[in-house]
Amino acid sequence: MEMNYRKWQANDIFSGNSWLGPNQVLITTDQGLVVDIKDEKEAGDGITQLTGFLCPGFINAHCHLELSHMKGMIPIHTGLTEFILQIVQLRKSDEEFIYQSIAAAEKQMWESGIVAVGDICNNELSIQQKKNGRLRYHNFIEISGVPAFLAQNRIQAGIELVNKFKDELSLPNTALPASTIVPHAPYSVSAELFDLINQETAEQLLSIHNQETIEENELFQTGTGAFMEMFQQLNIDASSFQPSGTTSLQKWIPYFNKQQSLLLVHNVVTNTDDLIFLNQQQSIGKSCYLCLCPNANLYISNSLPNLPALLPYSHALVIGTDSLASNHQLSVWEEIKVLKKHYPTIPTSTLLQWATINGAHALNMQHQLGSFEKGKVPGLVLLEGMENKEDLVHSSSRRII
Ligand SMILES: [Zn+2]
Repeated sequence: MEMNYRKWQANDIFSGNSWLGPNQVLITTDQGLVVDIKDEKEAGDGITQLTGFLCPGFINAHCHLELSHMKGMIPIHTGLTEFILQIVQLRKSDEEFIYQSIAAAEKQMWESGIVAVGDICNNELSIQQKKNGRLRYHNFIEISGVPAFLAQNRIQAGIELVNKFKDELSLPNTALPASTIVPHAPYSVSAELFDLINQETAEQLLSIHNQETIEENELFQTGTGAFMEMFQQLNIDASSFQPSGTTSLQKWIPYFNKQQSLLLVHNVVTNTDDLIFLNQQQSIGKSCYLCLCPNANLYISNSLPNLPALLPYSHALVIGTDSLASNHQLSVWEEIKVLKKHYPTIPTSTLLQWATINGAHALNMQHQLGSFEKGKVPGLVLLEGMENKEDLVHSSSRRII
């Protein structure tokens, strides 16, 4: 069988780690398997010249595909607790409409350059779409329960759903479990349920919504505030909740002591002390990544993560879109653009690292995705409409392979 090679040259190529320079040529198969990177003098004929900048496919480290039907339904700037109350209401919807919305959302992710997704799942609704295999998923089967007595039932339900995902979406080429049970958030999971999740997830990859708003820290520090009001409105018995006097992160991290890898999502009010605390945890496994979802933070509470505090941990930062309930689109490039707008001194190459190689490591997909290295099939994305590498205002992203 004859192999067809494709040769790509652009204004510059971002490898996943750095810019390679305008004279480099990326050589792939038709399917996008990376064969080589050569200087243009040695690359021969038949080079496709692209206007724009080429980079590997994006990793969307945090999404909720099953909420795609909520696009445009929740007003902006409600604050997190009001947002959660509305999500609970809107989950009940016509199933056919939910399936169509999921398909459209996944198509938009593909077209904007996303190749893999860390997807939060509370039900089976996204399985049908995922069977098509267009994007790669790590499914985070999310469970919650504030009253202690619910813990046993909730972990059982989580195990059943995780098994369903594994049965329906088993990948022939990977031995890694791509579906794991995870806690929803520090405020919605009892100490008893955290313990059960810890027992169930030794050496696995966990995700959690972490410190999304100032009210979350307030709940743990004083036992008061918007979350207590939300529990009342939802008729949730929170009498067993004990304030720790610490930030939420410093309370929940020690529940995990079985070498789990962690993906902390949002981190809007995560401070330097929290990050030092995180770094000191010997019980945490191979990796700990911090996911930024800036458009969702702006949508829900008109806030952004404290990037100056997080930048020393740049090697651990990744990017997510969150769901269409709190975003106008599912595009990692649009998240990069909004970060660049608010933090213009961060180099585009750093933001691209977060979106490509860092994300691939965070989801345990670095052997296939995240960079242009021989043997990977990372996807090819063209960044267009950029005056130069640091001016992203009028830019857009488009999937080539
Ligand atoms: Zn989320």
